[in-house]
Amino acid sequence: MHYPRKSYWHESANQIKKTLNKSNENINNKRFDILIIGGGLAGLTTAYLLRDSGYKIGVIEGSTIGYGTTGFTTAKLTVQHDIRYRYLLDGFGINKTKQYLKANEEGLNLIREIIKNNNIDCEYKDQTAYVYTTKEEEVGILKDEFEAYKRLQINGFYTENLDLPIKTLGAIGIKDQGQFNPLKYLYNLYNILLDSSVEIYENIRALNITPHSEKHMINTDKGDIYANKIIVTTHYPFDNDFGLFFLRLYQEKSYALAVKTHENPFEGMYINVKDPTYSLRYHYTDKGNFLILVGGNHRVAVKDNEEDSYNELENFLKENFKNYEIISKWSTQDCMTYDKIPYIGNISNNVENIYVATGFNKWGMTGTAAAALILKNKILGIKDDYSEIFDPSRITPILSAAEFFPTGAVIASGFMKRIKPSSTEFPDIEFGEGKIINYNGRKIGFYKDEGGGFFCINPVCTHLKCAVSFNDAEKTWDCQCHGSRFDVKGNILEGPAVYPLEKIKIDFPDSY
Ligand SMILES: Cc1cc2nc3c(=O)[nH]c(=O)nc-3n(C[C@H](O)[C@H](O)[C@H](O)COP(=O)(O)OP(=O)(O)OC[C@H]3O[C@@H](n4cnc5c(N)ncnc54)[C@H](O)[C@@H]3O)c2cc1C
Repeated sequence: MHYPRKSYWHESANQIKKTLNKSNENINNKRFDILIIGGGLAGLTTAYLLRDSGYKIGVIEGSTIGYGTTGFTTAKLTVQHDIRYRYLLDGFGINKTKQYLKANEEGLNLIREIIKNNNIDCEYKDQTAYVYTTKEEEVGILKDEFEAYKRLQINGFYTENLDLPIKTLGAIGIKDQGQFNPLKYLYNLYNILLDSSVEIYENIRALNITPHSEKHMINTDKGDIYANKIIVTTHYPFDNDFGLFFLRLYQEKSYALAVKTHENPFEGMYINVKDPTYSLRYHYTDKGNFLILVGGNHRVAVKDNEEDSYNELENFLKENFKNYEIISKWSTQDCMTYDKIPYIGNISNNVENIYVATGFNKWGMTGTAAAALILKNKILGIKDDYSEIFDPSRITPILSAAEFFPTGAVIASGFMKRIKPSSTEFPDIEFGEGKIINYNGRKIGFYKDEGGGFFCINPVCTHLKCAVSFNDAEKTWDCQCHGSRFDVKGNILEGPAVYPLEKIKIDFPDSY
């Protein structure tokens, strides 16, 4: 598979990953006690925790391990999830908020323990996490959040002095958090699992699940697998029959730069209070230190020119750093929930022994580790005191029309684009450009590659039939409703879609 996207983490970690010889193995009719679908941090951490449970465990990954969101993250390990605790206290009360905090603290401890116990070299470093503001009108928000810390006995502090090249007006810090290279960590987990009884398969995409009282059937693109218990850690759940996640999640996209700067690196990991948000930290390696800068957030596929987001980040660099050199840039997206709390637990009240972990709201480093602990406990029948708030079947007290309707509007416009006629037929098109054209009364997605060849697809997402639009910055077809992404030939890069875009053959006029 061709990956148009790579992050600095791939360049630095790919050589660690051991070779998997299972890609040609026939999986049809394989049986497992537990099948984990999706090999990102959520899936592999869960497999790690269950590896010695005595269950026969399989992991299937739709593409190659490390190419989901985990391979493109900022990799801050913290319970400071921007401004979160005042909101949780107001909406969910102290007991549930404590659950959220405890689960993420346990997640952070688990990551540290895994690194220590397995001697994993993943450039882990203890760090202080900060949320800061540069605006007078946001100082009150920070102070309110700090009051929430006090109520929750979070060991935080308020400061007006930050070691940043940005003029800030206040910040809250939490010491003893961490950062690492997420792929060095993920690939080490994977290597440990290869040496265990867990069976891992790449390039096997789950298409749907047929529940059964004894063994559920998982229909994949390489045959059917049977399992007593299923854990769906595919980032966005792929089977629309369970949990109605397509109504309860949206995807938000962000852009990242890895940058060599000539300033002395600052200590700490930072994010500001409100949009436009910039998340930044230095990453320290024995080959040098560089800045990771992330921002340009927007809902998936609503932006006409995604290059603007990279430009926005570069403007931030120009304003705040004297000399710099961008060494890598990438973008990625995460699943967001309307109440800002992930869904972890039974996928639906209507079915047993199918579990899910999704909706990490861009805080899925500690979040996926917390999910792995919760799912392990559920599978092994262990009670814990922090999982209730994450129950996927919860009725959210905070979900309001104001929060829900913007998504409704984005999705409606995704459907409208499908039926809105396109004005162009065989337009002038540059190499490396993609456009929607009219061909014999039908809309076609049309891409001209660097060699002058054309690839034509039906620009309708195979997930729930929204329109896809061309992403110039990354040469992909992106769905604005639920965030599925396809390469120029229509192959899946990211779910929830499980089928590629339909390829279309067209006859070109001689003059073209
Ligand atoms: C820009 C950005 C910055 C972030 N920074 C931070 C941060 O600093 N700290 C933090 O805590 N969190 C951060 N996050 C969030 C965090 O990176 C994610 O929440 C986390 O990586 C999600 O992990 P996952 O295992 O759920 O998903 P993924 O890593 O996406 O793994 C899911 C896997 O499932 C596979 N898959 C999908 N569909 C199928 C199918 N049908 N069959 C089989 N396999 C399938 C995919 O190929 C993929 O490999 C950030 C997110 C973004 C977008």
